[in-house]
Amino acid sequence: MESCKYHLDTPPNFSCDECQENFCTQCVDHSMAGEARCFQCGARLRVRVTADSIEPLSKRLKGAFRYPLHLNAVAFIIGLSVVTTLLSALPIGGLLQFIALLFCSGLAINYSFLCLKATSVGHMEPPGLGEAVEGSFSILIRLFAVFFLIAMSFNYLGQFMGPVTAVLSIITLVVVMPAVLMCFAMKDHIMEALNPVNVVGLIRKTGWPYWVLVLFLFIMLSSVSLLSGLIGNEQHALSAIVQSSISSYYLMVEFHLMGYLLYQHQEKLGLASDDIEEKLLQLQSPEKVALAHVNFCLKEGDYERVETILQDAISADPKNTRLWQRYFDVLCKLEDRVRLQKVADRYFHHLLDSAQTFRMLRDVKKLRSLIPDYMPEYAHLRFHLANEYYNSGDARAAVQLLGGMHRRFPDYAKLVEAYGLMKQALEALPGMEAQVSKCESLLVHLQRQ
Ligand SMILES: [Zn+2]
Ligand SMILES: [Zn+2]
Repeated sequence: MESCKYHLDTPPNFSCDECQENFCTQCVDHSMAGEARCFQCGARLRVRVTADSIEPLSKRLKGAFRYPLHLNAVAFIIGLSVVTTLLSALPIGGLLQFIALLFCSGLAINYSFLCLKATSVGHMEPPGLGEAVEGSFSILIRLFAVFFLIAMSFNYLGQFMGPVTAVLSIITLVVVMPAVLMCFAMKDHIMEALNPVNVVGLIRKTGWPYWVLVLFLFIMLSSVSLLSGLIGNEQHALSAIVQSSISSYYLMVEFHLMGYLLYQHQEKLGLASDDIEEKLLQLQSPEKVALAHVNFCLKEGDYERVETILQDAISADPKNTRLWQRYFDVLCKLEDRVRLQKVADRYFHHLLDSAQTFRMLRDVKKLRSLIPDYMPEYAHLRFHLANEYYNSGDARAAVQLLGGMHRRFPDYAKLVEAYGLMKQALEALPGMEAQVSKCESLLVHLQRQ
C-alpha cells in the first residue's frame, strides 16, 4: 500500500509534484479553502483518492443492503411493483401488455443504473424520484440496446455452439455483465461498454472485490428464484407485488455495489468524485494549520521553523491554550533553555489568566528538570506557584519561591498573604522554628504598614 511520507499506515491523499512526495491530510497546509499546499515547498498539491482511502467493499456490504431502504428507493420499488402487477392483470392485448411490462422492467433497471452512477461519484443515498424519470430515457434506450446486442450475438453464436459451450457462455456473460454495466456508467457509450479491452481492463483494475461482486450476483439470482419458488406461482396480486419488490431490491443492492467498486477504484480508473475532493480540501482554522505545520517541521527536523511558526501563531491568537501548550512542550522537547527562560513567565501568565492552574505545577516541574533554578520574574506568579506547591505537599519548594519577596517586590499588594503562606509552609518543615519566628515578626511588620 502506498502511504504518506510520515504516516506509513495512512493513505496518501495528496501528491507534491515539486518534491515528488506523497502526504496524508494531516501533513498538508489547509489554510485556504478549495486547495491544499505543500508545507515543504508551498506548491499546490494534487488530490488523490486511492482505493485505500475508501472503506473497502467488504465493509460496505452491510450498508449496501440498507441502501434500497431509503424513502426514495422504497417508494420506487413498491410503486413499480404495484404498477407491474396491475398491468399484468389488465385484459389488454398480448403485445401491448408485453411492451408495457418491458417498459416497467426497463424503468427498474434504469433506476438501479442511476443508483450505480450516483454511488460511483460518492452519493451514498439513492437518487430522487424526479431524477429517476426526467432525462433518463436516453439511458434506458441505450441500456436496452446493450442488452439487445448481447442477446443477438448470443443468438447468432448459439447456432454454432454445443450445449456445454452454451452454458459456459452464459456463465461468462453473468461474470462480465457487471463490468459491462460499470463501463457503460463510466463512458456513457454503448460500444465502449461492450469493448472487451475496457471490460477486461476494469475487471483487472478492480481486482478481487470484482469477484466478490460476481459471487453476490450469483447468490442473489439464485435466492430470487428460490424465493419465487417459496412464494409460489399462483396468480395472487400480493405475492406478485412481493416478488417483484424483492427482485427490484436485489437489483438495487447489486447496482449500488457496482457503483461502489467504481467509487473505490476511482483513481486507477481515472474517475473523480467531487465529494471526496471537497472534503479533502476543506478549510482549517489557523490553529489547526499551525499545529499541523509544526508536526510536519518536527518530522523534517526543521526546529527553528517550528519555533517561528508557533511564535507567529501565538501573536495572532494570544489566548489560544493549545498553541501555548504546544509551544511550551516543543521548547521542552527541544531543550531550548534560552527560549524557555524567556517564554516561561508568559506561558504561566496565560495559564493563570485562562484559569488553567492545574497545568501549572506539572509544567513548572517539567521546566525545572531543564532549568533547576527557574524563578518567575513576577510576584503574583511566585505566589500562585508557591500555593500550588504547598497544596501538593511540597512545602520546601513553596518556601523557596516565597523567600525574599518583601525585598524583591516591596510594592506587591499581597505580601501579607504571601508571608502567611510562607509561615504555614515553614511550620510544615522540621527544624525551622527559628525561621518561623523570623517570619512571624516580618508579618507583624508588614501588617503595620
Ligand atoms: Zn501524514
Ligand atoms: Zn512540495
